[in-house]
Amino acid sequence: MANKISLAQFITEQQRKTPNASGDLTALLNDIITACKQISHLVNQGDLIGTWGSADSENIQGEVQKKLDIISNDYMVDALKWTGHLAGMASEENDDPIAIPEQYPRGKYLALFDPLDGSSNIDVNLTVGTIFSILRCDEGIKPTLDDFLQKGSKQVCAGFVLYGPSTMLILTTGQGVNGFTLDQEIGEFYLTHPLMNIPKDTQEFAVNMSNQRFWEPPVQQYISECLQGAKGSRGKNFNMRWIASLVAEVYRVLTRGGLFMYPYDLKDPTKEGRLRLMYEANPIGFIVEQAGGLCSTGRKRIMDIDPKEIHQRVPVILGAKNEVNRLISYHEEFDSCK
Ligand code: MN
Ligand code: MN
Repeated sequence: MANKISLAQFITEQQRKTPNASGDLTALLNDIITACKQISHLVNQGDLIGTWGSADSENIQGEVQKKLDIISNDYMVDALKWTGHLAGMASEENDDPIAIPEQYPRGKYLALFDPLDGSSNIDVNLTVGTIFSILRCDEGIKPTLDDFLQKGSKQVCAGFVLYGPSTMLILTTGQGVNGFTLDQEIGEFYLTHPLMNIPKDTQEFAVNMSNQRFWEPPVQQYISECLQGAKGSRGKNFNMRWIASLVAEVYRVLTRGGLFMYPYDLKDPTKEGRLRLMYEANPIGFIVEQAGGLCSTGRKRIMDIDPKEIHQRVPVILGAKNEVNRLISYHEEFDSCK
C-alpha cells in the first residue's frame, strides 16, 4: 500500500487543524493505543498462555469475570495511570472510579472504558474489543463521581479496538469516524477506512430473538413487519445477524450498514437495559452518529441521557437512520396510546 497514513500522522495532523490544541489528547490516545496493542497480543495468544476461562470472581454487575477481563483491565490502568493526561478513570471491571496514584500528576481528561467487550465470546474464539470514552474535567482536580457523570454529548473522543481476524481501531473526535488496521509486524495502526458511513436504509437487523416474548409492543411490531418480508408492509425481505459481541455488531453496521438493538424488555423489569451507558452506549453512540447513523433507547437519544450511576444500563437501538427513526415513531405511537 503506497502512501500509507499512520495513526500517529493522522492524529497529529488532525490536532494541527484544531486551534489551541495542546497535544494532550493525542498523547492520551497514544497511551490507550499502547494498552490496546498489549491486549491485542494477549487475545491473539489464545489459550497458549492459559488465559482463557473464568477468574472465579464477579464484577459489580454480577457477571463472571474472565481472566482476560482482569488482565486487560490491568493493562489499561497501568498504561494510563502515570502519564499525567488523566484526572481519573472508570472501568467496567471496577466498582468505583479509579484514582490516579498520588505520586503522579493529574491531567484534564477522564477515561471510561470496557477493557474487554464481548469477553463471554473469548472461549469460542469470536471477535472481542476494547471500548473507550474520553471526557473533559477541570485540570488537576481529584474527580468525584459527579465529575464522571456527564452526558454522552460531552465526549471529546470515543473509540473501540476490535480484536478480530485483524486488529482495528475505530475512532472519532467529532470530525467523522475513521478506521485503522494494525500492522502486527511493525506495531503501528494505518488508516484503512476513512470517513466511515452508515447508509440510511438497510435490510438487515441484529437482535437476540430469544428475548422476543419479553419485548414491548413497538419492538414486537417492528420485527414482525421485518419478518413478513416482501409480502408484508415493508415490501422487502430482511436478513438477521446476531454475534452477541457489541463491538463486532457495531463494526458490521459501520461497514455494511444495518440495525442493531438490545431493546428494553420485561424479562427483569428492574433492569433498564442490558448495555452500559458510560463505557458502551455513549462511546458507541458518538461513533454511530458521527458515521451518519442514530443511537437511541427508542424513547431518547443515548447521548442526551443524564447519567445517574457509573454502571447504569440502558436499552440501545442503533444504526441506519431511517430504521432507528421508524422504531422511535413506533415507541411514540405506543406511549401516546397508553
Ligand atoms: Mn461490554
Ligand atoms: Mn467487558
